[in-house]
Amino acid sequence: MRIVLKKEHFESEFRKKVEILSNQKILTCYQCGKCSAGCPIGYEMDYLPNQIVRMIQLGMTDEVMNSKTPWLCASCQTCTTRCPREIDLARIMDTIRIIMQSQKCKLPDKDTPLLNSIFLSSLKFTGRVYEVGLLGAYNLLSMHLFKDVLLGIRMFLKGKLALFPHVVKGSGGIFKRLKE
Ligand code: SF4
Ligand code: SF4
Repeated sequence: MRIVLKKEHFESEFRKKVEILSNQKILTCYQCGKCSAGCPIGYEMDYLPNQIVRMIQLGMTDEVMNSKTPWLCASCQTCTTRCPREIDLARIMDTIRIIMQSQKCKLPDKDTPLLNSIFLSSLKFTGRVYEVGLLGAYNLLSMHLFKDVLLGIRMFLKGKLALFPHVVKGSGGIFKRLKE
């Protein structure tokens, strides 16, 4: 896709919003592609991480807001550590997810946001991920009742999954402080 750059591209309200919420200087990206080259999920994404940044720079709101990429991002921070311009791309992906949810956008698929929300609830209540609870709640709420059940049993038998959650003392405080 060939894009002719116009002045309004650089005055994009969407780009300014993402910059403010993520506290990142998105225009400093010079499209070296190092973020995408290291992304372990890139092969599944509809737009690579550097393309997402470019589209935000150009104010291509619809393309970004309809992309699966932010929901596939595993927040592994590889892109963030590789970026020569010190752009925290993982944080930008988080910001896009927040904007999508706050604007009640039609999400590319319903299961990933569901998993995301259960994951955060698990962190909120126990301070770390409670895998058995996460899998159980996800399977139940997504109606994939038997998804990965055999894998879960094998992991449990090998001692990789704890039956009960390990609660980290004071874990609720982190979310409270974030809210403040
Ligand atoms: S690594 Fe940084 S500068 Fe390079 S394309 Fe990605 S975000 Fe842009
Ligand atoms: S944080 Fe997300 S976008 Fe960045 S490398 Fe990891 S999966 Fe890819």
